[in-house]
Amino acid sequence: MNLPDKTTWFSEICEEHGSAISFRIRRKLHEEKTPYQHIEIYETTDFGKLMVIDGFVMLTSRDNFLYHEMMSHPALFTHPAPKRVVIIGGGDCGTLREVLKHRDVEHVLQVEIDEQVTRLSEQYFPELCASNKDPRAEFLFGDGIQWMKAADAGSVDVIIVDSTDPIGPAEGLFSEDFYRSCYRALGDTGLIVQQSESPLLHYDSIIQPMHRAMQAAGFSHTHTLPFPQPCYPSGWWSATLGGRQAVDQFRESDAQKRDFNTQYYTAAIHRGALAAPAFFPS
Ligand code: SAM
Repeated sequence: MNLPDKTTWFSEICEEHGSAISFRIRRKLHEEKTPYQHIEIYETTDFGKLMVIDGFVMLTSRDNFLYHEMMSHPALFTHPAPKRVVIIGGGDCGTLREVLKHRDVEHVLQVEIDEQVTRLSEQYFPELCASNKDPRAEFLFGDGIQWMKAADAGSVDVIIVDSTDPIGPAEGLFSEDFYRSCYRALGDTGLIVQQSESPLLHYDSIIQPMHRAMQAAGFSHTHTLPFPQPCYPSGWWSATLGGRQAVDQFRESDAQKRDFNTQYYTAAIHRGALAAPAFFPS
């Protein structure tokens, strides 16, 4: 293997949990400080390209399919007929690409605070941006919290919160106030899905409070779906669904008959992810 003379590693150190995730890197491809955050892109030896924001791993070329598929298909096969989708964050465009695989979706608005994340993804992760020119896709660069406050009541079917960790500009995306705005923006059958960090490391600090805050905002049904994600702390991640109706049932035969390719998501994977670990809320 053609490695640099002195092998270099990028590590995301998780001080509070005494662990780290590391990638062997060939070189740094890009680094910049935007008005919102510090973005780095690396070429790794085995995981393709790596995007890091404020020191936290966002994605690698090799394993992002797990996250992007689980952030989109379970929610879209849970809603009875999703047509209007809003993605908050998601600047790398991987979730957008998955959502647009659903032919019946008519419009997807992506509200990303930092335009540079999308521009760098177009340059370094073009495969994730393959559907950016789909006429159903619309891009708005601004704060998702403000956008949601002003959204018309009942104007959205599915909200996907594909955000960074709950610090900096993303902090308010994990609050009851934000969920109240989402609840208003969604129609009667509408649902929200949000990345909810690691079931192992963040159950008490993020997953449980998220259930409580979504329920306080009106989402009477909530459910967390765990899935593997090697590049994030603990290697185990989750997406939490909230709805006015049950979110632990889905259009299983539509999921089985889907007319698009996935690498991880299947109807059986979806069914399996609904079987919560014993320590999850019932
Ligand atoms: N898969 C990633 C993860 O879980 O680590 C998240 C990927 S995506 C790159 C997250 C995006 O959320 C970032 O591009 C960030 O700019 C965006 N973001 C953070 N706060 C936001 C806000 N208030 N409104 C809109 N986008 C926001």
